[in-house]
Amino acid sequence: MKPIIVIGSGLAGYTLIREFRKLNPDTPIILISRDSGDYYSKPMLSNALAQGKDAASLVQTPALIMAQQLNIKVLAHAEVHAIHRFDKKLDTSAGVFEYDKLVLALGADPIRIPLQGNAAGAVLSVNNLADYAGFRDALAGAKSVSIMGGGLIGCEFANDLAAAGFAVTVIDPGPFPLASLMPELAGKQLLKPLAELGVTWRFGTAVQSMDSLTSGYALTLADGTVVQTDIVLSAVGLRPRTQLAGEAGLDVNRGIVVNDRLCSIDKNIFALGDCAEIEGRVLPYVLPIMHGGRALARILNGEETQLVFPAMPVVVKTTAHPIALLPVARDLPGEWLTMASGSGLKMGFFDTQNKIRGFVLTGEYASERNTMTKMLGT
Ligand SMILES: Cc1cc2nc3c(=O)[nH]c(=O)nc-3n(C[C@H](O)[C@H](O)[C@H](O)COP(=O)(O)OP(=O)(O)OC[C@H]3O[C@@H](n4cnc5c(N)ncnc54)[C@H](O)[C@@H]3O)c2cc1C
Repeated sequence: MKPIIVIGSGLAGYTLIREFRKLNPDTPIILISRDSGDYYSKPMLSNALAQGKDAASLVQTPALIMAQQLNIKVLAHAEVHAIHRFDKKLDTSAGVFEYDKLVLALGADPIRIPLQGNAAGAVLSVNNLADYAGFRDALAGAKSVSIMGGGLIGCEFANDLAAAGFAVTVIDPGPFPLASLMPELAGKQLLKPLAELGVTWRFGTAVQSMDSLTSGYALTLADGTVVQTDIVLSAVGLRPRTQLAGEAGLDVNRGIVVNDRLCSIDKNIFALGDCAEIEGRVLPYVLPIMHGGRALARILNGEETQLVFPAMPVVVKTTAHPIALLPVARDLPGEWLTMASGSGLKMGFFDTQNKIRGFVLTGEYASERNTMTKMLGT
């Protein structure tokens, strides 16, 4: 019997396999990953420093134990180079493998903004355990960190680094933190609490070049100012890994295009997680992966299933000023209205029929996300 092959040992790959095994203990499964295959929680990467955690302590279950628990074969440190979908075969650094069904759980790559200067290559990003280990090494002896990007991941790292005692500068061409996810009034709530922790905000400008100094780097910004820093961390966004799928002739847009059964144009190939574009949406968060993993497990087990996402709020782990939000599509007509304010804000996005379609909860209101999510159902 040919196996199901899953490429990728992140949350998407392992969630799917765990859910599938609940339904089907026997079908052979091979998990191929170019990393260690160890199971860890990626969201921890942006709040582990202040807790003093190193990369090894973030591993929740080593690959070997995952393989035993899930009754699967894990090929770690093996890279898939090509998918020959008409032969249902994969070329990998560990040999050729045949599959019955193939699941692409390939994740996404950090976007790299081209910079000028003799140290442009020294920009770091943290998107997996190995990156985190390298980041911690780089931080040894450093006092200051500049972060490119004031979105969700940039703000979380800013909070974590400042709480760990680093002087942090966040540089973003936008007007305020988390600008792509929430209205100005709510985004600006983050300014003071993080500034009090040691974060300097630089909005409306961007890093143009990075040059080495005797110690650390000089960042020249678009507004002509120079920031001196020991480390530069880029958090400007992620790009779904689509190359393998594209080269195999699958449909690729922003992500690997799949339908509401998570199936590509090839009925034997599926995609899940940060690499996937599901019915036009790329959803690089934990909750969509959990829902998608459960649905795909049923589909691979032969059940007639259609993926329907519920409202899935996102928690921003800025402990100095917690935030929970349910983002709305950019082109949705309507307006943000303040529903309550105190040592935080409760805002709802109301469509033209006055129906609540999204929310932002900050500070004291952040814990109300379940209540707000229920309101969306009414
Ligand atoms: C710092 C940070 C904090 C976050 N915090 C939150 C949060 O608080 N809440 C939230 O909802 N979401 C958060 N996210 C997003 C969430 O963690 C991701 O959506 C999720 O972990 C993605 O899982 P994945 O399995 O799709 O991808 P990944 O975890 O990136 O896994 C991809 C896998 O594919 C493998 N792979 C890729 N190409 C190949 C190849 N050619 N051959 C073999 N193997 C290959 C890789 O080795 C890897 O194992 C955060 C993300 C980051 C980076």
